[in-house]
Amino acid sequence: MLKLPRKAVSCYCCQGDINTGVPESDLQDAEPDFKGMSRIGYDAMAVGNHEFDNPLGVLREQQAWADFPFLAANIYGQNSGERLFEPYRIFNRGDLKIAVLGLTTKDTAKLGNPEFISDIRFTDPVAEAASLVPELREQADVVIAATHMGHYVDAAYGINAPGDVTMARQVNGLDMIIGGHSQDPVCMAADGTTVTGYQPGDVCMPDVQNGTLIMQAHEWGKYVGRADLVFKDGELRLESYQLIPVNLKKK
Ligand SMILES: [Zn+2]
Repeated sequence: MLKLPRKAVSCYCCQGDINTGVPESDLQDAEPDFKGMSRIGYDAMAVGNHEFDNPLGVLREQQAWADFPFLAANIYGQNSGERLFEPYRIFNRGDLKIAVLGLTTKDTAKLGNPEFISDIRFTDPVAEAASLVPELREQADVVIAATHMGHYVDAAYGINAPGDVTMARQVNGLDMIIGGHSQDPVCMAADGTTVTGYQPGDVCMPDVQNGTLIMQAHEWGKYVGRADLVFKDGELRLESYQLIPVNLKKK
């Protein structure tokens, strides 16, 4: 989630995996979640792997409950060869055009319910970004990837599919990657190492790779990630970044 200041230009993103985990929500196919998110005012959502714990029909119903788009550039119908979701959306905010591109971990092919994904193909999100970002750069002032791919420090993704750091290093032209899936409070120290044991209120800076800011606001709605940026002379500059705790109890 991020906020662009001056003239109150803002853009709110969700990083997916709305489905599965809370019984009260699961029993209702996450209807309260999507309706609540719509009331909060999300602009867009990246599709997560847990969205494929249910049949595609449930996901289509969820799209109808939400008044924001579900974005994924790398999910296709196996037979149709057509994308199953909008790949990106361009928002006009004040004088700015902000492109938000959605990407989902290729591991969804392994993590989703096999019963429901046999007709679905998950392509390489890094390759999709490499082909789409140049055209988005021509159409928009700011290009953001809303991803569900994971943040792996120094691109050490191990047995997982490549994540945000790999993409930032391989794809030029992304201003920001707002990610999820690895469930990290992505906080880097001034020397580029990761801050471990992050506690609410600690200073937190995004990862920066190849000029791309990479942010992630941990998991389960614990934080609202807020980035304030200034866009001037065609350049985007980060002014401040915070993970704002939700329901933080004072001790
Ligand atoms: Zn996930």
